Amino acid sequence: MTTSNDARLRLDSLAVHAGREDFPSLGVHASPIDLSSTNPLPGVDAGGDAYERMATGGDIGDGSAVYQRLWNPTVARFEQAFAALEGAEAAVAFASGMATVTAVMMAARQRRGSHVVALRPLYGGTDHLLATGLLGTETTFVDRQEHVERAVRPDTGLVIAETPGNPTLELVDLAALVTAAGDAPVLVDNTFATPVLQRPLDHGVALSLHSATKYIGGHGDVLGGVVACDESWAQALRPVRAITGAIAHPFSAYLMHRGLQTLPLRVRAQQAGAQQVVAALAAMEGVRSVRYPGLAECDPAGLVGAGRQMAGPGSMIAIDVGTAARAAAIAEGVRLLTHAVSLGSVDSLIQHPASLTHRPVAAEARPHASVLRISIGLEDPADLIADLEQAIAAA
Ligand SMILES: *Cc1c(COP(=O)(O)O)cnc(C)c1O
Repeated sequence: MTTSNDARLRLDSLAVHAGREDFPSLGVHASPIDLSSTNPLPGVDAGGDAYERMATGGDIGDGSAVYQRLWNPTVARFEQAFAALEGAEAAVAFASGMATVTAVMMAARQRRGSHVVALRPLYGGTDHLLATGLLGTETTFVDRQEHVERAVRPDTGLVIAETPGNPTLELVDLAALVTAAGDAPVLVDNTFATPVLQRPLDHGVALSLHSATKYIGGHGDVLGGVVACDESWAQALRPVRAITGAIAHPFSAYLMHRGLQTLPLRVRAQQAGAQQVVAALAAMEGVRSVRYPGLAECDPAGLVGAGRQMAGPGSMIAIDVGTAARAAAIAEGVRLLTHAVSLGSVDSLIQHPASLTHRPVAAEARPHASVLRISIGLEDPADLIADLEQAIAAA
């Protein structure tokens, strides 16, 4: 019999089965949501040993989970499944994407040094966290991949990048980034691509991070984050999570784990819709330019087109509509799409990054006010095109 950890299983099979190995022994077919905040201790010494092991980064072993902030079986199943999809030894799940970024920065600071090199563009919240220095880190921002190498210092604890980047879909060559980073570990925000389209660890990246709020959950009803990494990073991250109280709630973990089962299907179907919408937008009057990783001019290095790094362009689109006023009118004029932040849901969303997701970003790095970001869902692309057409024509 093969198990879902069998390396021969392909991604779609892992998505459905991974992290469910203990179901037969439990006599269940869906993941139990284990809500216990505390757990009976087998004895004072054994309980103390279990506490010590988990508080210092180890796993539950065959002992008690002790306390939910240290360990939760529903969370652990999601982590096991997610690690399998990313081709990683381990994964650690958090209450949100930003809680995940925070924990990685704290662990990196403790392990290697407090300097961070950040390649822009990044998600606005990540950019903000780095720029404030709230966590005692000092950040050198660079806006071109070629500038990473000379920004790295002996005390650089982390190099952070995002690809495709938020919101304008710039691509980063991960193998080249890892080389430029030298000894410094690289964290890639893989939220837009998901493990279906891109597996950063295959290119030498140390940590692949997700806002699971987006494609992983996939239905706009859960806030969560997860990072895939090797076991030594996981052992550094778990104590940070335990101390700061940042673990994902079991119900969130349940939803994220369930989301994985349809992730490959959703990502590919949303991508197919996005390709049709992109073709229509490119020909639409009133759209100055379209940014999408599937367009040759957005992928000069062949990271998507030649399959060097990504298995497809995904379902995030950025358009420039000329002026801030037109962008606002379009965001407010759509009827089928929802004017809302976030992305990766089964329904399509549109938002104005300069006013919302990227509002806290320094003016020189903020996306242009004439840019809109669109996340394509599972509606019929013809309906999405018609809706965008009417909103753009009326703007
Ligand atoms: C949303 C998002 C985050 C932050 O995640 P939350 O779950 O909202 O905390 C980080 N990175 C990217 C690329 C995102 O889109």
